[in-house]
Amino acid sequence: MAIKFSDMQYKRPDLQKLKEKLASVTGAFSKAASFEEAERLMLEFDRESGHFTSMCTLALIRHQMNTEDKFYEAETEYFDEVVPEAQESLQAWTLEFIKTPFRKEFEDKYGRLLFVNAEMGLKTFSPAIISELQSENVLITEYVRLLASAQIPYEGEVYTISQLSPMKQQNDDRRRRAAWEAEGKFYESVGERLDSLYDELTALRTAMAKKMGYVSYTQMGYYRMTRNCYDKEDVERFRDAVVKYIVPLAESIFKKQARRMGFDYPMSYADAALEFRSGNPKPRGTADDILKQAGKFYAELSAETKEFIEFMYSGELLDVLSRKGKAGGGFCTEIADYAAPFIFANFNGTQGDVEVMTHEAGHAFAAYIARDIVPGDLRTPSMESAEIHSMSMEFFARPWAEGFFGDDTEKFLYSHLASALKFIPYGTMVDHFQHLMYAKPELKPSDRHGVWRELMTIYMPWIALDDGTPFYSDARAWQRQSHIYEVPFYYIDYCLAQAVALQFWALADIDRDGAWQAYMRLIRCAGKKTFSELVEVAGLKSPFGDEGLKEVCEAAERRLDAFDQSKLI
Ligand SMILES: [Zn+2]
Repeated sequence: MAIKFSDMQYKRPDLQKLKEKLASVTGAFSKAASFEEAERLMLEFDRESGHFTSMCTLALIRHQMNTEDKFYEAETEYFDEVVPEAQESLQAWTLEFIKTPFRKEFEDKYGRLLFVNAEMGLKTFSPAIISELQSENVLITEYVRLLASAQIPYEGEVYTISQLSPMKQQNDDRRRRAAWEAEGKFYESVGERLDSLYDELTALRTAMAKKMGYVSYTQMGYYRMTRNCYDKEDVERFRDAVVKYIVPLAESIFKKQARRMGFDYPMSYADAALEFRSGNPKPRGTADDILKQAGKFYAELSAETKEFIEFMYSGELLDVLSRKGKAGGGFCTEIADYAAPFIFANFNGTQGDVEVMTHEAGHAFAAYIARDIVPGDLRTPSMESAEIHSMSMEFFARPWAEGFFGDDTEKFLYSHLASALKFIPYGTMVDHFQHLMYAKPELKPSDRHGVWRELMTIYMPWIALDDGTPFYSDARAWQRQSHIYEVPFYYIDYCLAQAVALQFWALADIDRDGAWQAYMRLIRCAGKKTFSELVEVAGLKSPFGDEGLKEVCEAAERRLDAFDQSKLI
């Protein structure tokens, strides 16, 4: 019987004791006389550091659940302070681990990725760049605060960026366009600082890379993202296939949308955001109805997901309702000590609520299946592979859409598939843009907007930039994409994952059982394989070439054409 979240015990770890313990395990490991001894020490290190992380995660979740609770507020502050120190112990361990004379034995038992990823991690850090890393954090924090500080006047009230977001999708054309205009004015008002922040970040990252011996930041950025099985050339091949197959299909989807809605084509950002005259699809019923339908979906999908959802619900491993004092946003995490995933979200009555129960719970399901794998590093793969878990689960949920969306089901099913295709060109452009930025860090801010404007003509020809919306019509929209500032090159991950998830969709459409078995094979590998290996395990095609994208585009086009157009209004 699983333990309930509220019964999980929190105790502040003693940093001094932990450091001593980790140092003594590391020391003993370096002198281990046999593989058995080295393995026992490796697992001990994993348990100790896993316990520290578990306490940190518990404190963080409980603080976010109730930001007014002083106890957990103090505990999260404590962790902010001590985590960097604990990282030193981890670094010391990694340096010893990769030198072990028992590498062959470890690789035979645990796979080679433990070493590949550890070595890659070491290529991104040196004490010589500590001050650059600190400055990078300061600039990122300023970016986050700048956007969080937005007070946007709209229809007599004041909104934050996320509060304004539903207004940017509403039916009424005049009010929707006014919301985009209001948001654009805010971004424009901080545009100069957004320009200089990015300028400083690219310069800083370039300096950091040069100190580490790289020609530019790009390769170092790839290592920081643990790109352990593909390189820049592979990404270029993916880009070409996106332009060749997905852009034309997305273009035809947007053209139909403009015709259906009576909008000019190409569309403004504000018009492209509304898909149906009767409004974008909304879930029916209350938050409880969504949770009930999610329970039904997982119980019916497979034996594994049935066990998973019962574990989550009975262990109270999700907190999804909004309430006073609760932090915003949403995420899925795990508490290693209890081998339990946890989902945190804030339902707000939109389609996003259903996504929490399909996308985020897809991450949680993968964590649940991998919960007993040791060491912890092998439980989750790199980001692009982790997104396959969640994005594919969204597609597996499609046959249950009616229970979530009621009368809006047809609109949802169309929009969900169409959105996956509309997203890939945008995401690929975000990645392409960053390659150009780090290749020429000396560019001036105005040159950067010019590069974005040019890329728009290749990847997003359905958007008209000249409609006069502040900020947007100046080709500055990239400045809203936080990943560009915060985690360079972390965006192609979503595109690669979506390209794989679409293959699961296409397969499930003709053979749901076969698709599910393939998905389970991939999930069970957890973090033991690279992205390319995982795609192979599932029997799917690599997205780094023509075939993978060509076939899903053909299947998706057929499916979208088959929708009853009279229901898409
Ligand atoms: Zn995700």
